[in-house]
Formats: sequence, structure tokens, C-alpha cells
Amino acid sequence: MDKVITCINCPVGCRMTVTLSDAGAFVSVTGNTCPRGAKYAEQECTRPLRVVTAVLPVPGSETPLSVKTSAPVPKELIPEIMRVLGKTSVSLPVAVGDVVVPNVLQTGADIVATRELSSR
Ligand code: SF4
Repeated sequence: MDKVITCINCPVGCRMTVTLSDAGAFVSVTGNTCPRGAKYAEQECTRPLRVVTAVLPVPGSETPLSVKTSAPVPKELIPEIMRVLGKTSVSLPVAVGDVVVPNVLQTGADIVATRELSSR
């Protein structure tokens, strides 16, 4: 079975054709311009990863706090990560890079602040 995907590793956006076995296992890829595309294609067809971004309300701040994972995490964990974030409270002040949730869901990635918020 063939599947067409777009590499998101750089702005070129190569369209790649991935061949999967009948059991859905990665077999090969064509259309990638560089090895990063091949690695992405295999990852995407076996266990896709994503950087998760979100915004959190912060008591005492009219501006919500934007956060993201410090590394890509398994795509299937995104709903559970959003539930964790929904129960997360943040206190002012916050600096860029502050860890809001360490090692979220034991993925090895932290949830980190991507903006600064200070108390007034
Ligand atoms: S395969 Fe290489 S050149 Fe093509 S989009 Fe991916 S990273 Fe960019």
C-alpha cells in the first residue's frame, strides 16, 4: 500500500510516497530530497511525533501563557497532554523557558513557557 505524505522538516516540503506492507509496516520511501525526509517518513508511519503548543490562563494576568513541549512527543498523547495542561496552574512571574510541567507523561519532554509574564 502506498501513502503520500509531505515532509515538514524544512520549507521545501517534499511530497513523498511511502510504501507500507499489508500489515502497515514501513517498507520504503521515494520523493525525499535528503535523508531527513526518509527518517521523517518512517517515523510518521510508525510513531508520529509532534511539538505540542497551547496557551494557559494565569491568575493575575490578562494575557495567557503560551507553552510548548521542549521536544516532539508521540502524537497519540496529545489529548492526554491537553488534559494535563487543563489541570496545570501557573503562578507569576514566568520567564521564557521556565518548566511548567516536567517530563510530561514520562515522554522525556517538558512543557516550557514560550513567553514572559510578570506581575504588576
Ligand atoms: S526531504 Fe529534505 S529537502 Fe525535502 S522537505 Fe524534507 S528535509 Fe526538506
